[in-house]
Amino acid sequence: MAAAPGAPPPSTKGSLREDLTCAICCDLFREPVMLSCMHHFCKACISRYWRGTQGPVTCPQCRKEFRSKQFQTNYLVAAMVEKVRSSTSDTHIRNLEKRLSESLVSYNSRKEDLICSIRKDKDKMDIIKRVGADLQVHVRGEFRALHQILQEEEACMLDQLRREEEEELEKVQRHLEATELAIRELENNIKLLQQSNIALTEFPQLRPYAEVDTVPDFDISAFSSKYMAPLQYITWRRMFKALKPGPAALTFDVDTAHPSIHVSRDKTMAVECDVMTQHTSNSKRFLQCVNILAAQGFQSGRHYWEVEVGSSPKWDLGVASATVNREARIKLSPENGYWTLRLRNGGEYWAGTQPWTRVQLRSSPQRIGVYLDCDERKVAFYDADDMSLLCLFSKGPRGKVFPFFSPCISENRQKPHTVKLVHYPSVALAN
Ligand SMILES: [Zn+2]
Ligand SMILES: [Zn+2]
Repeated sequence: MAAAPGAPPPSTKGSLREDLTCAICCDLFREPVMLSCMHHFCKACISRYWRGTQGPVTCPQCRKEFRSKQFQTNYLVAAMVEKVRSSTSDTHIRNLEKRLSESLVSYNSRKEDLICSIRKDKDKMDIIKRVGADLQVHVRGEFRALHQILQEEEACMLDQLRREEEEELEKVQRHLEATELAIRELENNIKLLQQSNIALTEFPQLRPYAEVDTVPDFDISAFSSKYMAPLQYITWRRMFKALKPGPAALTFDVDTAHPSIHVSRDKTMAVECDVMTQHTSNSKRFLQCVNILAAQGFQSGRHYWEVEVGSSPKWDLGVASATVNREARIKLSPENGYWTLRLRNGGEYWAGTQPWTRVQLRSSPQRIGVYLDCDERKVAFYDADDMSLLCLFSKGPRGKVFPFFSPCISENRQKPHTVKLVHYPSVALAN
């Protein structure tokens, strides 16, 4: 499109440089000046162009005539020229290139970061899915074992019911058959009597009555009682017995007890007391810390036991290596052969690491379940009331360990601390 004469054509970025180019020297204006016809030239170019001309002069671009050599400095155009000149200078271009390449590097690096983050997210999702799938297999397996117990119990009980039902039916069936036999004999006799009645010559020879035993009454309540009993309760007891591992019935090893610990006669209760018991010397005994072990040690398989701590404000419990030093004051940590959970000040629970690791609990468990998996090297602590996990050591002991307990020393005027080993009543474990 042609530009209107005299007026600069509408600028786009590309043509701005052309608009600001002098028609005489074909370069960007230097000290641009404007003639009355609105055309611009470098001050030096138009001065040189008009030099030597006397009288009227013309515009080199539109040929308009002027009476004298007159022009005006155009500061606005001068400023625009400076802008264009500086924006196309080498330094400016180099700066631009530098900024461009820096931005490119920065954006590429940000993009790499995000791609890396996506990869991490996908890896995480894979891990979650894999762990989820493994756990599903585990949960299914555990429930399959429980279902199997239930199915076996059910099949066994139905089988017994069928046998008893058959026995009862057979009893009645035998009675029925004997009765029918007796009726047939009676009918024979009746027939004989009737025939004799028609031609009476002599009394017929009759067979004596066949005796039919009376069948005892079917006692519905005796028959049903076994099956109408609280089946869920009975089955629960059998399932409880089938638990693997079932709760171990631990006892304290008196030979390991610190002299300040008194052990009950049945060896299930340890009480810390002021008066020290005089013991015979024993290499198993704890001499510095108020500790005691159970008599039962474990080095393979899975084991579970429960400890009643009640509302005691302070205790330590867990497992200890068979080899722990009993004579010195040792900090309880896995490095020293102890995997423990501890309570301090009535409400602060800590995992026995070095340093201690705080365990935040919402409630104060009265009974602690300790689960030991020797093969997987795991020691876990549970609130035995709801089996919520309190704390887990995933790098547990190697070699033989013993259940470990410390009732700790009570403060003045507190009642003596006790630790009790939970035994399930034998009735729950009986057949
Ligand atoms: Zn010029
Ligand atoms: Zn002109």
